[in-house]
Amino acid sequence: MAATNRMYSVLFNKCPRCGEGDFFITKSAYSLRNFDKMNKHCPKCGENLVPEPGFYQGALYMSYAFYVIFMLVYFLIYVNFFEEYIDYFLFSIIPVLVLLTPYFYRLARRSWLALFIKPVERNVTE
Ligand SMILES: [Zn+2]
Repeated sequence: MAATNRMYSVLFNKCPRCGEGDFFITKSAYSLRNFDKMNKHCPKCGENLVPEPGFYQGALYMSYAFYVIFMLVYFLIYVNFFEEYIDYFLFSIIPVLVLLTPYFYRLARRSWLALFIKPVERNVTE
């Protein structure tokens, strides 16, 4: 697929410039030895995926925003559908957050870089 938009590259582990090269080395966020290993340059277009040292400190704020949004949605679902079990809310959300940590880590890095890189325009004739 040759779609080049920011949402696609953020969600599907692709380079924010070309939308084809992989951002992280592994496809899965749950290969625990390598979930944080990134390509330094896009394997397809050569875009620098690590612009400067410390660049991804800003991804911490993206990660924080994802956690807050997720917890709000989780809480609203819990209150509306499982109100009789509200005492167990914390017990249920903590393991979910721990399980989502590698996913949010990768999502935050991809979305942080996607804020600063403009996708290439391409004529798709399919
Ligand atoms: Zn690329």
